Amino acid sequence: MTVLPLVFDAPKRGMPPRHLADLSREEAREAVSELGHPPFRADQLARHYYRGVTDPAQMTDLPSAARETLTEALLPGLLTVVRHQTADDGRTRKTLWRLHDGALVESVLMRYPGRATVCISSQAGCGMACPFCATGQQGLTRNLSAAEIIGQAVAAAAAMANGELDGGPGRLSNVVFMGMGEPLANYARVRKTLDALLTPAPHGLGLSQRSVTVSTVGLVPAIRRLTDEGRNVTLAVSLHAPDDELRDTLVPINTRWKVGEVVDAADAYAKRTGRRYSVEYALIRDVNDQPFRADLLGKLLAGRLAHVNLIPLNPTPGSKWDASPLPAQREFVARLRAAGVATTVRDTRGQDIDGACGQLAAADAEPGVPSVAVGPLAGARREPASGGGQGGPSTVEPPVELGAEGDQ
Ligand code: SAH
Repeated sequence: MTVLPLVFDAPKRGMPPRHLADLSREEAREAVSELGHPPFRADQLARHYYRGVTDPAQMTDLPSAARETLTEALLPGLLTVVRHQTADDGRTRKTLWRLHDGALVESVLMRYPGRATVCISSQAGCGMACPFCATGQQGLTRNLSAAEIIGQAVAAAAAMANGELDGGPGRLSNVVFMGMGEPLANYARVRKTLDALLTPAPHGLGLSQRSVTVSTVGLVPAIRRLTDEGRNVTLAVSLHAPDDELRDTLVPINTRWKVGEVVDAADAYAKRTGRRYSVEYALIRDVNDQPFRADLLGKLLAGRLAHVNLIPLNPTPGSKWDASPLPAQREFVARLRAAGVATTVRDTRGQDIDGACGQLAAADAEPGVPSVAVGPLAGARREPASGGGQGGPSTVEPPVELGAEGDQ
């Protein structure tokens, strides 16, 4: 396994053209005026966009002359489906997207009884270099623009509304930033994305704050910044080890911000929002799953506003590590609970399509390859990625009790 450097500053190249979703409502109205149309057309355009409509022919409330101009100027196609893959009896669907510069990212839509969650990417690749994560091993290609991130959620909302997932039409209820990338390393654009997810129609998807989760390796200054903003989205911290010695190797950013600083920053966030944060912990056989580490984690978190979400490690190509065996998982859970720490085990949706947490690794396409719009499942021109596993991140949702439905 290669040891990669930490990368904070994304390459500047490759950002896509301006899109309505990059703009605030005011900016959108201004942009529409500059194009010679009355500002309220921005609201009409936004309503179509957030409903997944980008075909001018369907925008019948706009005069035909305005449709083409406004769509061309403000709704450039930023995400092209390379292919969809489904799993879990059609209830999980991973989508590989090609961006305007050939970069590839993935998102994963998961349907559960009573809700649907999309796991979205915030960067192409990732600079955080976690050795057990397929995306981390790819390195960072570039930040996504706000519209490229928002577009993944909008596409998922439209897919649910159109009944593209097994189970008929439904509603997208949750968004988790657990796809490719470190969301807090792309702070300003992720912040804009939160606005779009939470703002009611026409300028957003109107999701509730608690149903949006931002997951981070623990960029302490950015957690503090998020704390100072008014939003109350759910925070997830990828801890993976209770002690600095081990965490320095599993989550290399720990060499900069230590375990104690990370949980203190998360605590401050939780105190401000009044809601618990979740501590993500991938159980890796004989690496971080020992009973003494469960006790250390219990001691670290007892009395804090934290909830532990254990993830049996998802295998990634070339990794020497395995998931913890079930008895070790059970022992880990029991010790945490005995310490008074709320603990659940996440299911592993999408594992067989490399769509589970830490598996997303869409390889970067060569720049200059023309991007071709292909329909879902229709002929993808190239195999996506990933030397060995394209997959993606996700799987987040419903934390499932050990022994309950789901992955066990
Ligand atoms: N960069 C963010 C979000 C992306 S990953 C973060 O690290 O939080 C979403 C979650 O999947 C994180 O908790 C991450 O640590 C975890 N993960 C990464 N690789 C994994 C793997 N191989 N198996 C299980 N979980 C993994």
